[in-house]
Amino acid sequence: MHFHIMTLFPEMVLDGLRTSIIGRAEDKGYISIEAVNIRDYTLDRHKKVDDYTYGGGAGMLMQAQPVYDCWRALEENIAGRRAASQGGQKTRVIYVTPQGEVFSQKKALELSMEEDLIFLCGHYEGIDERVLEEIVTDYISIGDYVLTGGELPAMVMVDAISRLVPGVLNNGESAYTESHADGLLEYPQYSRPEVWHDKKVPDVLLSGHHANIEKWRLERSLERTKERRPEMYEAYVAAHPPRPSKK
Ligand code: SAM
Repeated sequence: MHFHIMTLFPEMVLDGLRTSIIGRAEDKGYISIEAVNIRDYTLDRHKKVDDYTYGGGAGMLMQAQPVYDCWRALEENIAGRRAASQGGQKTRVIYVTPQGEVFSQKKALELSMEEDLIFLCGHYEGIDERVLEEIVTDYISIGDYVLTGGELPAMVMVDAISRLVPGVLNNGESAYTESHADGLLEYPQYSRPEVWHDKKVPDVLLSGHHANIEKWRLERSLERTKERRPEMYEAYVAAHPPRPSKK
């Protein structure tokens, strides 16, 4: 899986992502992360990439030309690599924006099936609409609040998607038992010691009885989801109606 991030702050993205599990996944070749500086593509002799917004209003807007030329260069590189393997499928371009569909585990799973993904990070007041119309395939938000730039949202999405790429997590199973994977929050978990601050690990987890452990975990997941995310719980219950009892 190859991530290509179009940004004015490549070092911010790479410093954040090239650590811990995601950094190791890149070192081992399960994913690759490239951050391209949009400013390198401006034709302005002062390296400017933003200008005033027509019609007035506060703040500056990123201009279409550098964004478009940056995308074209990336797309040509990707197409060149793919031509050798599987032909010229177009790469999805995600504009991270508070105006998009809200990101979710389901979306992360869908995107993890792609071979390449391009992320476009806005800054200032955002980006000239005309270039968005020409290159963007997906508009995705990380929540209903406004940040100063798209770098953190792109990092959030790259992290969540990478965890679903085979090989990235040592224990491939864990991504599929965690919160949101099956519409429930994860059950509480405990590690050594068995007693801490007079709190004992539940006996069932020490019993070695796998069926009972699974049952306990599902019950705790249901309980926790109902308490903390009632709307998720309702959706789960509606999708998993109790089986009719045999007469
Ligand atoms: N003027 C824009 C609006 O009202 O929709 C907001 C621009 S914001 C200050 C600058 C950039 O940060 C955006 O272009 C976008 O790339 C990024 N951004 C801010 N909040 C975001 C969010 N919740 N999700 C994803 N990207 C976000």
